[in-house]
Parts: sequence; structure tokens; C-alpha cells
Amino acid sequence: MSDDIPFNKKLDLAPDTVDEPMPGVRRVMANNPGPFTFKGTVSYIVGRGNVAIVDPGPEDPAHIGALLDAVRGETVTHIFVTHTHRDHSPAVPAVKAATGATVYAEGPHRAARPLHIGELNPLDASADRDFRPDIALADGQNITGDGWTIEAVTTPGHTANPLAFALKEKNALFAGDHVMGWATSIVAPPDGAMSDYMASLGKLARRKEATYFPGHGPVITDAPRFVNYYILHRKAREDSILHRLAKGETDIPTIVRAIYIGIDPRLTGAAGLSVLAHPEEIVTRGLVETDGLPAIDGIYRLPG
Ligand SMILES: [Zn+2]
Repeated sequence: MSDDIPFNKKLDLAPDTVDEPMPGVRRVMANNPGPFTFKGTVSYIVGRGNVAIVDPGPEDPAHIGALLDAVRGETVTHIFVTHTHRDHSPAVPAVKAATGATVYAEGPHRAARPLHIGELNPLDASADRDFRPDIALADGQNITGDGWTIEAVTTPGHTANPLAFALKEKNALFAGDHVMGWATSIVAPPDGAMSDYMASLGKLARRKEATYFPGHGPVITDAPRFVNYYILHRKAREDSILHRLAKGETDIPTIVRAIYIGIDPRLTGAAGLSVLAHPEEIVTRGLVETDGLPAIDGIYRLPG
């Protein structure tokens, strides 16, 4: 199902060592491999001397130590956070305490929509609800450091609060989990929303930064083309859901089995939520019907 996107799963990067994929951009990958994180969360260091850190990562002393080692003798002036998942932001307090840097992000964690009556949020464990930025950034805001300028680009969808950070001097963008080179992004309600996600992809497609530094996986070197593949992939997934529903009304687990063939079993729950994200969006356009609000245990059908 995802063979249409030219994924790149080559990442020769040992955990908690530093390398420099582009002059002026260093990275240190945390040792937190898994079905959602690939080989680990990638933290980035921007500049030399007075530097910014993008996504300090999970609350893992080895990773925090490696990140601080990588900037030993330098001054960390800024910490940027793409979003509030537990593999991206919980190292912020330790890195801030060690460096005195100011923390920039869109805002605290929140869901994209309110919970339905009786609905439990299955994503609670993934969220860093303690996180608060020192400075909340709005779309288009520029932050200038020593030799670099970063523009905040709101990209909701994966959660409600993602920012991508455009590095103006390099025509590059820190993409967080919005676009990754190794897999599609998870868009799981209620924290994520497909309508927001598609709008954010369209926004990135119009910006045309050449290089993306994702939160997981290798650097994306042909980013505009890659974003287009992502957009086509989402449309294809929507088509396969409509195609399955054309055979008769059904539930989300049946749709997941029909369209995610050979899926990692650890991802089935997330895939179900990702499938739910589509009807939520398609129902609002009148192409699919359900009884009441779109829910994970709902029955879906084509209108008519
Ligand atoms: Zn995430």
C-alpha cells in the first residue's frame, strides 16, 4: 500500500554519536528504535558557537548527555520543539537546565478535536502533557540566532501543535514527524486530524524547501517531490477506503485488514486510528456516512 512512496530506509547513524549531514547542521540520534520511531528520534544542532537545538528528544540520560557533549564549549541559545510527543520534547527541561536556552514551540499538547461522549483518548500515553514553551510561536514568525534564521511554519495534522522550522540560510526545513523519509506520518484522531494534515502538506508543497531534516530517518534531499508523493499516497488511501465501502458497509478493523496488507502487528491500533482519520474528514465532505459522530467502533457506508 505504501510502495508508491520512494522511502529511503538507509540511515548509517549510530545512536548518540554526532555527525554533520549539512555544513552548519549536526544531528544526534537517540537510542529509542521502535515501530513509530524507526531507528530513533533525531535531534539537530544548528550553527556553530552559539547554537540552537531542534527536538532534544526523549527523557533518556544517555541521549541528553550525548547532545550536551556534542555542544561542549559552545552556547545553546535556543531550543526549538516540533511537537509534544514523548519521543521529541521530554528532554527539554534537562537541556534547558544545563544550557539556560530559551524554549520555542507552538504551545502545549492538545487534541485536534474534543473527545466524543464516552470516548477515551487512546493516545494519552504518547503525549508530553508537562511541556510548556517559554515562547509560543505563530505561523511565519522569524527567530534569528548567530548565523541562522528560523521561520516557524505551522503544520497541524500529526498532532494539533506541530511546527516545522525553515532554516532560511540553507533552504532547508526541520519537518518533525510531518514528513519523514522512512514511512508515512501517523495521523490519529483525536490528537491528529486528516483535514489539517492534508492542508499542511499542501502548504509545504507550495514552499519548496529543497532539503528536509525529519524527526526520524534520513535526510530528505528532494523534498518537494517527496511531499507530492505523500499527497498522492493519502489520496490513494482515501480511494481504497471508498473502494472497500463500495462493496458494502463495514467497520474500521475490516478496512484496516483490507488496505494495510502485511502491516506490522504493533501498528494495527495506530493504523485503525489513521483509517478513522480519513472517514472523519470524508464524512464532513458527504462522501461517507456513519451513525452519529465518526468513531473507531462505528459502521461506515457510502451515502444512498
Ligand atoms: Zn510524533
